[in-house]
Amino acid sequence: YTAKKKDSGYCIFSSELDTHTIEELSLVGSLKEALENDRLELYYQPQVDMKTKKVTGVEVLLRWIHPTYGFIPPDRFIPIAEQNGLMKKLTIMVLEKALQQSKKWLEDGLELHISVNLSASNLQDMQLADDIQILLNKYNMNPKTLTLEITESFIMSNPARARGILQSLSSMGINLSIDDFGTGYSSLAYLKKLPVNEIKVDKSFVIDMLDSKSDEIIVNTVINLAHNLGLQVVAEGIESKEVWDNLQAINCDTAQGYYLSKPVPAESFYVWYMNHNGVFAT
Ligand code: C2E
Ligand code: MG
Ligand code: MG
Ligand code: MG
Repeated sequence: YTAKKKDSGYCIFSSELDTHTIEELSLVGSLKEALENDRLELYYQPQVDMKTKKVTGVEVLLRWIHPTYGFIPPDRFIPIAEQNGLMKKLTIMVLEKALQQSKKWLEDGLELHISVNLSASNLQDMQLADDIQILLNKYNMNPKTLTLEITESFIMSNPARARGILQSLSSMGINLSIDDFGTGYSSLAYLKKLPVNEIKVDKSFVIDMLDSKSDEIIVNTVINLAHNLGLQVVAEGIESKEVWDNLQAINCDTAQGYYLSKPVPAESFYVWYMNHNGVFAT
């Protein structure tokens, strides 16, 4: 077996491939290995308060450079982790490193909020809240500095259990955010039932909002809905000043996107932050 090149018209990472191909099996093995040998890297993407323009936090996004295949996007390996029982280990690893990093930044005078993505199986794990409490204690971090991002579809698989876990996390003081809002089979009722603090408008609506009237209407509506429910709104996928200006005009709270910065390693984020004096002047 040899990995064929893309130019042969056959892409080994094509999502059309059956999940039980040799490639997939070898990816499971190497993902396990990468996890064990600490070869998954945390990248950080800034979040900025649109009113004060202060850099208020970061979203943690995982990066994996495979020794043979090179960069493998998280949309590709997160499902593999999820389907092969690796998600708990992966999430705890991400949380631990993120808290460690945020403590380090705090010691350097950077007060930043960190957002970490959860996945479906995390919301079925009755141990999750206790595990996170242990980490918060270990790094002596205020739970209010941590936001956990979930998507609506994770909740749907077993709403009662997910709700219980989210209640525990919330009562610990952790913030909860609904990621990719507007994409799944959203049930607005959940917004009322869940202890959510924030909604992230999916980037697919934000990216095109100046060219697509319907996307603009969706973004507008989500912002109004969130505010009427007392929730904060983050727009992800801001790629231009024009989109920033537009979102600012309609009172979006927080901005995230390539226009500000791509996700970068911790050291690069620090440099970016210092270059901006902690303020993103557009
Ligand atoms: P997400 O949580 O919705 O993260 C936002 C994604 O949008 C990231 O993709 C980010 O790089 C990308 N993005 C940010 N700004 C822009 C922009 O202006 N334009 C465009 N085109 N894209 C932008 P990424 O890093 O490839 O991650 C994809 C997804 O993988 C994430 O979506 C999240 O669902 C998942 N993921 C990443 N890291 C983790 C992790 O540590 N744990 C879990 N459970 N999932 C993760
Ligand atoms: Mg996210
Ligand atoms: Mg998202
Ligand atoms: Mg996502």
